[in-house]
Amino acid sequence: MTSMEIKEDFVFPVYIYRDTIQKINILTKNFENEIFGYLIGNILEWNENIYVIIEEILFILGAVHSDKFSTSQIEGTAGKYEKRFQRLKKKRENDNLRIVGWWHSHPGFGCFLSTTDLKTQKYFFPESYQVTLVVDPHKDELDFFTLDKNSVKGYKSISYAILT
Ligand SMILES: [Zn+2]
Repeated sequence: MTSMEIKEDFVFPVYIYRDTIQKINILTKNFENEIFGYLIGNILEWNENIYVIIEEILFILGAVHSDKFSTSQIEGTAGKYEKRFQRLKKKRENDNLRIVGWWHSHPGFGCFLSTTDLKTQKYFFPESYQVTLVVDPHKDELDFFTLDKNSVKGYKSISYAILT
């Protein structure tokens, strides 16, 4: 795979299946903790722009992402997710399948990226196509984010489309 030229200020449209959102909603509503998992899918190129299609999610029981966590604490879980992803790739016989980002829950405190979330994104999901999905199961809210060097916050919300 050749590396891709990506404009820094490019807004990445994301496509996600309704089923996938439902899976995440069920998981996040069933756990009081701030759980997290990986987003697996494909990237498409058109007119030098990149689009992300999320096809599956990975979730390991007990995977929690909290502001009290350090990067090294998350590292162990990241290793487990990497193994799960390799198994999935083999099973689906799809070499194009990628880790297109991660998702996690903010039970009751809304959708945004905390300082720890930003660190996680930069450290574990540094590719420009890698996104973060934050879900608040109490408020029934969800939002996608990507890193944004031009923003004071260091990230921005991005638009998405739901596939039915
Ligand atoms: Zn968070």
